[in-house]
Amino acid sequence: MSMLLEKRAYVVNGGIYVLCPVCGVGMRGTVNNNKLFCVKVKCKFCHEKFILELEHRKYYRKKIMSIGQVFCASKGAFTAIVKDISAGGIRFKCTDCVQHLHIDETVRIQFQIDDKMHSVINVMVQICYKYTDDEFGAIFISEFSSSESMKKIGFWLR
Ligand SMILES: [Zn+2]
Repeated sequence: MSMLLEKRAYVVNGGIYVLCPVCGVGMRGTVNNNKLFCVKVKCKFCHEKFILELEHRKYYRKKIMSIGQVFCASKGAFTAIVKDISAGGIRFKCTDCVQHLHIDETVRIQFQIDDKMHSVINVMVQICYKYTDDEFGAIFISEFSSSESMKKIGFWLR
């Protein structure tokens, strides 16, 4: 019996975007059943089979249009528009990045929210979904984010 590699994928509006754990090719798929938590997948490129653990994102999302800065260890700093925020993460579109971000990559992002104080939010996120080549869904990594920022997001979402 061979051990299958396991990989986590985030289901965003019924869609997933995951990188093959063996060859690294990106794959897009749809998940219609929101009670499905695990699925066996075969990579279309290298034909390797692996297990996909599905995590359904079902947070309430609040829309925003905020220009921010993304800081990436390997690709430098660039501009992004934050489009929505939930208690679990954000959606943002990069407007001037030369190299595209990848699934699983972690970046720091700074932007302002439209609360009374126009608070500056500074959070670390991990890319978990690709809407297009330059628009991403990302989850908060709260242990590396400012706790003040996480608190402010919590209040803003109420
Ligand atoms: Zn593959």
